Amino acid sequence: MPIFRRGERKPEPPPMQPDPGRRGTGTGSGPVPAGPGAVPPPAATPAAANPPGPPVARFPITQGTLQCRDRGCPNHNGVLCHYVDRRGRRCDTAWCPNHWATVGGIVYCRRHAGTIAAIGYFEHPSGMPDVDNRAPSLVNWVARDLDAFVAATLVQTAEAGETFVREPAVTTHVERNAVRRYERAWKLVDHTGVRLAVAVYVDGEEEVSIHVRVGSAVVAEGVPPWIERRRRGLEVSAEVDRSQRALFYGFLQKHILAAVRSTRERDSRLSRP
Ligand SMILES: [Zn+2]
Ligand SMILES: [Zn+2]
Repeated sequence: MPIFRRGERKPEPPPMQPDPGRRGTGTGSGPVPAGPGAVPPPAATPAAANPPGPPVARFPITQGTLQCRDRGCPNHNGVLCHYVDRRGRRCDTAWCPNHWATVGGIVYCRRHAGTIAAIGYFEHPSGMPDVDNRAPSLVNWVARDLDAFVAATLVQTAEAGETFVREPAVTTHVERNAVRRYERAWKLVDHTGVRLAVAVYVDGEEEVSIHVRVGSAVVAEGVPPWIERRRRGLEVSAEVDRSQRALFYGFLQKHILAAVRSTRERDSRLSRP
């Protein structure tokens, strides 16, 4: 693509990419050039008259013959999880209707349904997270539990002209060292842009530590207790689980609140004449 420097005039009309085929003069008239690998449709069917469009989404089967992976489940009508990652690898677990999860009408294992729910099931130019990566759903989980607190904290410190914005899904950032970071953020924005952002993120390589950033500084981090227990194969009662979660979130909240306050105080000192 040509680069124009400031002061140079851009030619009119803008340059076009070279067209591989003859440009048609209308739709539906004359033969349509087929892409490489395209299979010509049978000439006699009415479908042959349809113009080419995006591939038709096909509703996947929901009745399978595979042993359900859920521990102790006797069902043999499982289907494979439909998750495919950016390297083209598939999840190889099968689940019956009692134990699968669905997003957008597609069957997944519960873990990958969590991944899809975290990042959204629309366009992902950089591809889906690796099949064994738990980071997106961990970030989403923690962000959901912190959401009310962070929203209230930011809204309370908003100044005139600032609006609170919550990112609806986990976003993927590729770091300089090619490590992927999965992040969810809350922001105060005004007409000049982002005034203050709070984010929780997980580095794709380590997958277990939650990091909290306020402004440009990382202010707290740690492995959630339920992740630590899973790594060690420990089981605890629901009550212990609740109290450990409360400790973890209390720790993050305390540091978020302190950092938001100090950042706002510093910013208001700097903006004072
Ligand atoms: Zn089952
Ligand atoms: Zn799966």
